[in-house]
Amino acid sequence: MPDYGLPLQFGTFITPANQKPDVPVALAKLSEQLGFDLVTFQDHPYQPSFLDTWTLMTWVAAQTSTIHIAPNVLNIPLRPPAVTARAAASLDLLSGGRFDLGLGAGGFWDAVEAMGGRHLTPGQGVDALSEAIDVIRGIWAAGDRAPLVVDGDYYHLHGAKRGPAPAHEIPLWIGALKPRMLRLTGRKGDGWLPSLAYLGPGGYAAGNQVIDDAALGAGRDPREIRRLTNISGQFARANGGFLVGPSDQWVDELLPYAVDDGVSTFILAGDDSAAMQRFAEEVAPALREAVRRERASAGTDVSVVKRASVLAARRDGIDYGRVPAGLTAIEPGDLGFADVRSTYMRGGSPGLVLRPADTAQVVEALAFAKTQNVALAVRSGGHGISGRSTNDGGIVIDLGAMNAIEVVDEAARRIRVQPGARWMDVAAALEPYGWALSSGDYGGVGVGGLATAGGIGFLAREHGLTIDHMVSAEVVLADGSVVTASDDENPDLFWALRGAGANFGIVTSFDFEVDEVGPVGYAQLAFDATDTAAFLENWGAAVEASPRDLTSFLIMGAPRAGQPAVAQLISVVDSDDPDTVIERLQPLADLAPLLQQSVQILPYAAVMANASDAPHRGQGEPRSRSGLIEHLTPEFSRAVETMLASGDVHFFAIRSVGGAVADVDPDATAYAHRTANFSVAALGSDGERLDRAWHGLHGHFAGLYLSFDTDQSPERLTDAFPEATLARLRLLKTRFDPQNTFRDNFNIV
Ligand SMILES: Cc1cc2nc3c(=O)[nH]c(=O)nc-3n(C[C@H](O)[C@H](O)[C@H](O)COP(=O)(O)OP(=O)(O)OC[C@H]3O[C@@H](n4cnc5c(N)ncnc54)[C@H](O)[C@@H]3O)c2cc1C
Repeated sequence: MPDYGLPLQFGTFITPANQKPDVPVALAKLSEQLGFDLVTFQDHPYQPSFLDTWTLMTWVAAQTSTIHIAPNVLNIPLRPPAVTARAAASLDLLSGGRFDLGLGAGGFWDAVEAMGGRHLTPGQGVDALSEAIDVIRGIWAAGDRAPLVVDGDYYHLHGAKRGPAPAHEIPLWIGALKPRMLRLTGRKGDGWLPSLAYLGPGGYAAGNQVIDDAALGAGRDPREIRRLTNISGQFARANGGFLVGPSDQWVDELLPYAVDDGVSTFILAGDDSAAMQRFAEEVAPALREAVRRERASAGTDVSVVKRASVLAARRDGIDYGRVPAGLTAIEPGDLGFADVRSTYMRGGSPGLVLRPADTAQVVEALAFAKTQNVALAVRSGGHGISGRSTNDGGIVIDLGAMNAIEVVDEAARRIRVQPGARWMDVAAALEPYGWALSSGDYGGVGVGGLATAGGIGFLAREHGLTIDHMVSAEVVLADGSVVTASDDENPDLFWALRGAGANFGIVTSFDFEVDEVGPVGYAQLAFDATDTAAFLENWGAAVEASPRDLTSFLIMGAPRAGQPAVAQLISVVDSDDPDTVIERLQPLADLAPLLQQSVQILPYAAVMANASDAPHRGQGEPRSRSGLIEHLTPEFSRAVETMLASGDVHFFAIRSVGGAVADVDPDATAYAHRTANFSVAALGSDGERLDRAWHGLHGHFAGLYLSFDTDQSPERLTDAFPEATLARLRLLKTRFDPQNTFRDNFNIV
């Protein structure tokens, strides 16, 4: 295999001399300006005339923006691998994925020993480096929940915490010359990085053979291993020997290394800015073109090579080779998989996560998914409870990258929001205009899932549901067509989207008309609710009696031994007048002994800024039941008290609805239970016990809000939709999604 077909790269090899510390930095910046792909630095920590290479690389990373940075090569005997892994991942994150890692087993043993390093024989150095690679890769495996244990001859890690994962798949390039190091490179490396000067004639071919055999022996494709080389020479008018001569001579002399020996990265040493310029302007483009021509005539395979570990992690039923080009696709073996596999509440192991960037790519992703014989999930913010936006072995279309928020008509307060935006981002984007759109109580929830279900939020009684503000939506239907749904276009679809939307397509953008909302009163009150039934009944009555500018949510948990039952109220008053805020809150504050209280006047965006940016790490399968109810009657409140006393519910919430929500005609949207004043939800960890505990409540409900129920039995459909609504939804489902492509949600069958 003479040419491994990898894209050509060019780099520089800078001496980290510290006499004039600006010089290596300036040469690194020049490398970037000249268009080099890579700047590298030797690492000799025992050398007093050198800057410390890590410190220099960090400094350079901060002063450049596109060029990759690498040690050439890092002295592992003086760099503890676990710390090296964290440093590398950190620099990669800080530099936006621009760090690559050259590794060496060390040399200059006297100097290493003098610095406190362990004196290793050459053979031991290889074994130590092999263990170091395991440590480095183990630390980077941030998605692996088991702590890292390495019980080697040289390195002992007893349960190290993993992470951070780097920003990109950092390649490990090994500075190898002798057969054992070459075999290690073939088994574990991502690149071979020798200096050309140290390889005799035929040295590349012989080294490649050893590497390739070792790679194949380890079940790897030799193309996984990039061949790099450090080169030096002089530009001169006439041919004065190898790489001493004019630019075209350089091209002629380097070309065989590329096409016969498979070298795809040439790194120029010499610290000579004029030579760097000639190389970048005259050698690199000509060599690139010459290699392109040779490859075209030889029919060289230049396809992207996937690591053996990625191929091994692939799942059955997905034709990975046919994923549409240009679509971001994350596979189980890929670095970023840990961040996209699960959702907020649910652990998942999908076979493929597709992250479209626009509507056209959503169409492509859906068309591909439909040809694969596996489950399909649609994800926006990943907070689905009834909606399953992850799966096991299936495909996820993750709209997280489609998260734009724009004002399309300021006079009409009309905004356009893509489904992957989170409600905290929407609130923040609207705040400068003095606007808000009622959403839910948690800023991390995605626009796509909530705006297709209802949206019971902190402003609900004054401003209605989120769906009540929807003016139109762009939808990719099951057959791949892209349609607009509004009162004028596809009005049936528009009706269905607002309450049962997940069943009908993938919404790629929403237009909403938003309201003027200034700062709001935000109250967090905790009560001794020992008499739980009385507390619930009185709270319900107080909320119903209150003007619409108050919306109040209640949270309770399982009883705790020796402690009173505690009820927390999170309430928003849509007013920035302290007197009004207090007036609305006082009836609530009088309900029972207050254990804690906090009342602030805040922008609505600050209320919603309550979620983190961390990737979802949900585990297991949530169990949740829900219902809609008009009044918190004494009977219902007593049933709740009994349910909570069972200990089988660890989270119980009641969100107030009513007010503006009830102004909308029940037939106007698929969310039809408009007369309900409260939405009730309970979560437990054991489904059967939760159902048993919930049983006593069920008879009190007049409807169900589909976002909060994980029960998939057919009765829940009739709970969620009145008969006429359900009949119309079923008819529309057969029209818009006859094959039930969109079924991993609260499914209308
Ligand atoms: C912590 C928390 C707090 C919550 N608080 C509230 C609240 O106060 N009020 C409230 O009303 N709800 C609340 N919810 C429920 C929430 O609204 C729903 O779970 C919603 O579906 C989440 O939307 P998402 O985009 O984040 O979820 P995802 O998990 O991404 O999606 C959920 C489901 O919605 C469907 N879906 C997602 N995107 C689209 C799209 N673009 N087009 C069509 N279908 C799509 C899919 O079927 C998917 O399975 C809360 C949920 C959580 C976890």
